[in-house]
Amino acid sequence: MTSNQDKKGKLVIISGPSGVGKSTVCSRIVETLDAFLSVSATTRPQAASEVDGVNYCFLTRDDFEKRIRQDDFLEYAKVFGNYYGTPRQPVEAALNEGRIVILEIDVQGALQVKKQRPDATMIFLLPPRTDILQKRMDTRGRGEDQESKKDRLQTAGSEIAAAWQHYDHMVVNDDLEQAVQEVVAIIEGKIEEPL
Ligand code: 5GP
Repeated sequence: MTSNQDKKGKLVIISGPSGVGKSTVCSRIVETLDAFLSVSATTRPQAASEVDGVNYCFLTRDDFEKRIRQDDFLEYAKVFGNYYGTPRQPVEAALNEGRIVILEIDVQGALQVKKQRPDATMIFLLPPRTDILQKRMDTRGRGEDQESKKDRLQTAGSEIAAAWQHYDHMVVNDDLEQAVQEVVAIIEGKIEEPL
């Protein structure tokens, strides 16, 4: 007999510096594998191009802190001065249904998840060159100010260094199709974890 508990989904963490193209890669993975993409909560301001409940659930700081106290998050972290967190319940429900679950989160959050769920697959997206990050941030139309972009570029270096140490797979996002194919192959178990 198959109960919900017998079904076991697959938890996949995708991280990478700002401007590397995480959201594009993640939405392609969702289409290709019919995966469940977790919608994070955040206290950062909503950009004009973003939809509440789709890109993020935008919360006030008070609401976010209340949800921390209620233990509503699988993980949360302060990133660039704002809170970001993964709501626990939808992730657990999707895993219990046997689905592939994608978390698009930063390195701090990824390490918290890995502690709780050592079977999670950790994938880090790298830019082909670092100057591309600045260019992609300039053209993505989020309306970020120069200070925020500078902060994000500075953080990119330390995130990449930490990722080499902790992540199972590093994938270069130069050609989008190739990067998507590589991530799909990793999730499907066709690419082994490097030693
Ligand atoms: P952005 O403001 O560019 O959308 O996201 C900033 C950073 O926060 C990115 O590295 C993104 O992956 C990360 N992030 C988004 N959602 C979450 C989350 O739920 N938890 C954590 N720890 N990081 C997140």
